[in-house]
Amino acid sequence: RSIYSVRNVSRRYGELAALDDVSLEITRGEWLSIVGPSGSGKSTLMNILGCMDSPTDGIVLLEGDRLDKMGEPELATVRREKIGLIFQQFHLVQHLTACENVMLAQHYHSIPDEKEALAALERVGMAERATHLPRELSGGEQQRVCVARALINHPDVILADEPTGNLDEVNERVVIDFFHQLHDAGTTLIVVTHDAEVAAQGQRQIILEHGRIAREVTDVLSTPTK
Ligand code: ADP
Ligand code: ADP
Repeated sequence: RSIYSVRNVSRRYGELAALDDVSLEITRGEWLSIVGPSGSGKSTLMNILGCMDSPTDGIVLLEGDRLDKMGEPELATVRREKIGLIFQQFHLVQHLTACENVMLAQHYHSIPDEKEALAALERVGMAERATHLPRELSGGEQQRVCVARALINHPDVILADEPTGNLDEVNERVVIDFFHQLHDAGTTLIVVTHDAEVAAQGQRQIILEHGRIAREVTDVLSTPTK
């Protein structure tokens, strides 16, 4: 039932434990919000779940595979095939068009497929902007390109780190509505956010403090996971 199992995970930087003995089960299809003050370990946890960093102690399973045992080449494969990443700062390649940015994230083994990239851009209402460079797009438009890029490999899980941090209210709504569509379609969503309204969209919120899960809030009114 769990898509992720995190067991007694720590991530140490010398004396500092950015994550300190964290255990967490994430259910397939769940929308989980990760909140907490600056420096509490949110990005560290996100980076470990997103195969961008490894714990110094503990076990991390994604669909039964031990992420904590993997080296960078294996992690890169899992990241491409199973995970869609969305960042506050977009991380678009500036000299490539919207469409080329989406194509760059396609599976290693697939031949770059422009039609598929255009279809992903279409889903987020950005098809007419396919040939534009990032600097020719507004913040909201850039984040929609990032959503298309995150969806290109049909990931089981979307990890978003402050996805609405650089957006105005209108574009925040667009991104949240899109997350609801993905969630309704069965995608697991894990969202780090400072914004209480964005956090409240999730069925469960975990609150990190000093690298530990201090509290957990479950929204009893939301629909149960399928
Ligand atoms: P948050 O995302 O909640 O702001 P982080 O996960 O970025 O927190 O950081 C948690 C703690 O780990 C902080 O004290 C931060 O300074 C420290 N930290 C994060 N990355 C590194 C690093 N590469 N080297 C040393 N300390 C780090
Ligand atoms: P490579 O390993 O070939 O250097 P990168 O990891 O640098 O590839 O990714 C190439 C591009 O694809 C980058 O723009 C990166 O942000 C994007 N990308 C890679 N993996 C993902 C993912 N899982 N979700 C969203 N974008 C991704």
